[in-house]
Amino acid sequence: MGDPRDSERSYTHKRCGEPTALTGVYLLALCDPFSATVGTYCSGCHEHFPLKQFTWDDTGERISAARRRHAAEASTWTRFLLGGGWLALLALGAALGFGAGFGFGRLVGGFSWPLGLVGGLFGLFAGLLTLGALIPVLLRGSFGVSDWRELR
Ligand SMILES: [Zn+2]
Repeated sequence: MGDPRDSERSYTHKRCGEPTALTGVYLLALCDPFSATVGTYCSGCHEHFPLKQFTWDDTGERISAARRRHAAEASTWTRFLLGGGWLALLALGAALGFGAGFGFGRLVGGFSWPLGLVGGLFGLFAGLLTLGALIPVLLRGSFGVSDWRELR
């Protein structure tokens, strides 16, 4: 299996029978059951329709049903983190970074606010890196794959 970022997958609109292929972040949004995706594009009709009108070509499963199944099969931690916990993680990183920068500024006697803001940015960045490292680990634990796009 190659890099999931390069993978392509196609689905068929039941009403017109035309297949549509997706790649990249569009495919990720469709495969990630915690994304807010409710519809997708049909290249036959040149229009968007609800997910329940489409089936994956490789499995024959309805996209809406596959997303429900994957969300239900995800571990508690995966559900927590991707269902909104990621925001708390980023906020925590930013708050800790701000606190460290601000505290250091107070300690050395100046620039508390600018140092706090720089620290907050670093904390946010650290939170993003942590999130990027956590998601594949959680997915591997739940499903044995490291990217939603590899999931069937
Ligand atoms: Zn169509």
